[in-house]
Amino acid sequence: MRLSRLNMHEEYIRMRYFRPNTRHQKAKTCIHVCGGIRSRGRERIVDAFGHLTVAFAASRFRLCCEGDSEVLETRELATTGLRTSIVGFGASPLGGVFGEVTQVDADWMVRAAIDSGVNLFDVSPYYGITKAETVLGKALSGIPRDRYILATKVGRYDSASFDFSAERTAASVDESLRRLQTDHIDLIQCHDIEFGSLDQIAEETIPALRKLQEQGKVRYIGITGLPLGIFKFVLDRAKVDTILSYCHYTLYDNSLEQLLPMLNSASVGIISAAPFGMGLLTDRPLPDWHPAPEPLRQACTTARELCERSGVRISQVALQYALANPIISSTLVGMGNRKQVEENIASAATRPDQSLLAELHALFQDVRNLTWSSGRPENNILPLT
Ligand code: NAD
Repeated sequence: MRLSRLNMHEEYIRMRYFRPNTRHQKAKTCIHVCGGIRSRGRERIVDAFGHLTVAFAASRFRLCCEGDSEVLETRELATTGLRTSIVGFGASPLGGVFGEVTQVDADWMVRAAIDSGVNLFDVSPYYGITKAETVLGKALSGIPRDRYILATKVGRYDSASFDFSAERTAASVDESLRRLQTDHIDLIQCHDIEFGSLDQIAEETIPALRKLQEQGKVRYIGITGLPLGIFKFVLDRAKVDTILSYCHYTLYDNSLEQLLPMLNSASVGIISAAPFGMGLLTDRPLPDWHPAPEPLRQACTTARELCERSGVRISQVALQYALANPIISSTLVGMGNRKQVEENIASAATRPDQSLLAELHALFQDVRNLTWSSGRPENNILPLT
């Protein structure tokens, strides 16, 4: 069945067909059983490279036969005209920020994500100090450009290196285009703006990006950061297409909800990142740089144990909770290995146990919305309304 047409990455093929050893048989069975899928259109049986594949059918087998939704849900990104998958691929792990990731693994993860319906990829020159962009660019090369929405950033270049000037912004976009091996970036975002002057972002950085938009190098413009007040401050002074907030729509912190009505009525696209609180809501050890205060870490450990006793992984409930709000167009998840890609896609297809969710909400009561300071002190005390 068309195997001769496959020229996918060898490792990808090995994973899909020969490990575990029942997959090969399942794939054949799937093509037979799910013949209806084939008649639904070429799009649905074409892999990331545009080839008709058994591999795709193998992944469909799980989706068809285990009752999961067939295609990852997409939502409109405000008025941009883009529809983003509810799970976005956060590419900071490709820069090695949570541990080393090989190019082979990155290739597999990116392709598996696309085959599963993920269409938003978010990266930055800062992640791994340009490494994540380079690795992502290689992993995406060869995949038709219209299969994914590419988001990257300007302004942050190292943990303490920021430059939001018009000149550096224009140069940074050109550098990102080269590393990402593309001629346009779908969403360019000013990265962690609380570390800079918000007046400069509104009066210099965003206008510089609008010029690049006129040149066709970028399609839409966004801002990112941790303290929520920064978004209102900039939106009051400049037109912005999207905001990216992180660690504020999780099991322990839902403070982003306070901004949703304002963002929604201003037609600003909403991307929420880090549904695991950058690893707090997983069973993995935290990286040294993690800024969470001790009481929050302790509550997350207790929550993890509660989930384990209930027979689920905390990452599963955390992601399901984050995806449930329809006003949030996409939730960016940092994917660090192959298993995580598969687990997260599977989690997205089911709903959380409501009684477990209620127990978790009660457990986090004492640390609800506990956060940490980021950037300039004055940017951490801005009003939300
Ligand atoms: P996250 O909350 O998505 O957590 C990532 C961590 O969870 C990693 O250690 C990863 O290995 C682990 N993980 C993922 N799936 C797992 C699973 N199924 N089981 C166990 N562990 C799992 O945090 P993040 O990666 O920092 O954020 C996601 C993305 O959002 C980033 O990659 C980035 O693209 C974006 N982001 C942007 C900003 C910004 O612009 N200021 C800030 C934070 C995040």
